[in-house]
Order: sequence, then C-alpha cells, then structure tokens
Amino acid sequence: MKATRYIFVKRPYGLPDRDVFSTEEVNLNDLKKDELLLKPVYISVDPYMRGRMNDTKSYAASWVPGQPVSGGVVALVTESMNSNIKPGDYVTGQLEWATYCIANSKNVIKVDVNRFPPGYYLGILGMPGLTAYFGITDICKPVNGDTVVVSGAAGAVGLVAGQAARIMGARVIGIAGSDEKCRMLETEYGFEKAVNYKTSKNIRKEIAKICPQGVNAYFDNVGGEITDAVAASLAPHSRIALCGQISQYNSTRMPAGSFIMSIILTRSVLLKGFIVNDYASRFPEGREKLSEWLEKGQLKYTETIIEGFGRLPEAFLGLFSGLNKGKMLVKTE
Ligand code: NAP
Repeated sequence: MKATRYIFVKRPYGLPDRDVFSTEEVNLNDLKKDELLLKPVYISVDPYMRGRMNDTKSYAASWVPGQPVSGGVVALVTESMNSNIKPGDYVTGQLEWATYCIANSKNVIKVDVNRFPPGYYLGILGMPGLTAYFGITDICKPVNGDTVVVSGAAGAVGLVAGQAARIMGARVIGIAGSDEKCRMLETEYGFEKAVNYKTSKNIRKEIAKICPQGVNAYFDNVGGEITDAVAASLAPHSRIALCGQISQYNSTRMPAGSFIMSIILTRSVLLKGFIVNDYASRFPEGREKLSEWLEKGQLKYTETIIEGFGRLPEAFLGLFSGLNKGKMLVKTE
C-alpha cells in the first residue's frame, strides 16, 4: 500500500516558509505482530516544532533534513495486529505527518471520541492543556482574589491557563493579537479584560491601569516586549510560569540581557521555566481534572481546524501570524 508523508527539507533562517517541507510517496510494509495501520485524521501543528528545525540541542530532538516530520496525531485504526485495538478505534501518539502510517500499538493510546471531540486529545486533553494545567496549579498557584495575567491568551495553552486560573478564584487578564480574540476572551472565556498587544499604544501602562494592586502571577507564552511590559506590574512575591517564548522563535539575533531580572530580584519573584514532560507522572491527574471541568461546563475550548492534508505547512506557519483561536489542527480530509 502507498502513502504520502511530509519530509523536513531544510533548516530555516528566521521565519520559515513552505519550502522547509516537501512530500514523498512511500510503500507501507505488511503489518507485523502488534502493529497497526493508521489513518491520521487530526494532525497537530505546534510552536515547539520551530525549535526542532534548528540544529541545536533542546528537550525535543532536532529534525534532520531529509527525514519525515512527526508530531501529535489522532488516527483511525484501519487494520490491527493487536487484539486490544480494533479497526474503527481511534488512537493518539507521536506519528508521522502522513496519509497512512504503521505504528506499534505500544506507542499509541486509545481515545474515546464519543466522550470528547477527537481534536481535544491534541489540545485541551493533550500536551497544551496539560501544560496550562500544571503551569497554573503548580507554579502560578493563584489564590482567591489574585490577579493573573496570561500572554498568548487566545491560543491552545493560553485559553486553558486563563480559565484554570479563573476556576481557582483569580481575576484573569489576557493579552492577545486581535480585537476579535480579545472580545472572545472577555465574552466567552471569563477573562475580566483582554489587551490587544498589536494595537495598544502602551501595553505597560495599560496593564498597570488594569492591575492597580499588581500582578500576582504571570503565565508567559510569548516573552519579549510583552513580558517586559507585564513585569513592570509584578507584585512582591509574585510567580511567573515561563511556558513559551514564541515572540523569539524566529529571531535571528541573540536577545540582550533581560530587563526583567532586576525586577525579579527586587520584588522576590519566583520565576520557573518548565516543560510539560516534567509532569509526566501526573498526566492522569491533569487529564482527569481537565475532563471534569469540561464536563461540568466550567471550562470551554475552541479549535481552528484547517481542512486538507496538503495544508499542513500553511497551518504551521499560521501559528506565527496568529491565524488560530484555541488549538490549531489540520483535519486531513
Ligand atoms: P498557540 O498559542 O495556540 O499559537 C501560537 C500563538 O502565538 C498565535 O496564535 C499568536 O497569537 C501568538 N504569537 C505568534 N507570534 C507572536 C509574537 N511574535 N508575539 C506574541 N504572540 C505571538 O500555541 P500554543 O501551542 O498554545 O503554545 C503557546 C506557547 O506555549 C508557545 O510559546 C509554545 O512554545 C509554548 N508551549 C510550551 C510548552 C512547555 O512544555 N513549556 C508546551 C506547549 C506549548 P496572537 O494572535 O495572540 O499573536
């Protein structure tokens, strides 16, 4: 049987273009014991993949030019050599960006698409949701009445982080890149106020005005000037969950020594960088809590679904122009 899959072609300099990807046709072998023939249905594109394009050592292995691209996928099982997983079941795992692929059943987990929409297992109940959950509950640790600021607030992680903080009793302020996103955060997701960083004349002043008692916790998805602006309002003994730095991922210059360090020192701020896998042993707890909040209606979620296997590069690049609200996914057909 033949399948089409994506190949990572070359390392980008600065913002990538579509030419970093190409496709190739491959022949799939017959299945061996415990193997599954899978048809990817939803494919996740994520900002961390930009880091994998660099030739640098990081927590996720660097992609090698000429090798297939892989990431989080929800797939339909079409054939199975494992008695616990049947054709018609859905599974999730780190799989190739392909029309069909073979995986060992040990490397995937079954998901219940009747309980939650399939894409949720790549978003709110997958890596982004767990990142938000542990960053808020373990690092930001909001208590009743705290003010929590979330940057990248309308994205896959930010949307969950802000709502989790609100559920824990905080007033939540979001920062996002369009008026439409800000309106969505305020009217649908319980953010008290949201600031459009692209049109704000002075984000620092705006945050200071919205947070007159100071910011008790900051969940940072973006870094750069937005973080400098929030840092100016940090309260003594506040906490920063350093989750992402997307504003720097395509930068071709080394950032200068950060302005925020003297604030962290003089206001006794706790700054904690983290990778979601630090919490791997607690993923069941995180999934259970997020599922409970979803089923009780305390937590809401949204997805931006780009249709068509051929549009994976467009969806990935869209993360850097703010094309998505909530989780960016590609539905393969
Ligand atoms: P996302 O927020 O769904 O998508 C990316 C969003 O970033 C875009 O929609 C865009 O929204 C914003 N953005 C793009 N370029 C920007 C810039 N130059 N300045 C400010 N905002 C920019 O992505 P996600 O999956 O939820 O990830 C969010 C962050 O968390 C990323 O930094 C990611 O690397 C990080 N992350 C970390 C972990 C971890 O384990 N630590 C796990 C998952 C994700 P706007 O319209 O608002 O600009």
